[in-house]
Amino acid sequence: MITDSNIIFDRIYDYQKNPVFHPLTCGINSGHKLLEPKIIDENKVILFCRDCNYVQEFIPDMFLEDDYETDIENYIQEMNEIYKIIQKQIKPSF
Ligand SMILES: [Zn+2]
Repeated sequence: MITDSNIIFDRIYDYQKNPVFHPLTCGINSGHKLLEPKIIDENKVILFCRDCNYVQEFIPDMFLEDDYETDIENYIQEMNEIYKIIQKQIKPSF
């Protein structure tokens, strides 16, 4: 379990930028800017919306896991494999 907020911040920012994932969005209006991490109560990381100050106190557990980086790599690898299969299937056959 990771408690270093710098690591959690980095993970969230990277996740939000990565087109492979569905980003964490505002609970009021999903058209708002993507949620960003913020620290409250000295060391608790929350997500907030820059556009309307919506706060999501719950951070998905995966961001706190020790092997997050490996999990993400494996996930991306799997997505690449799926993508290759799809590409093969939609290749025109003439
Ligand atoms: Zn918002």
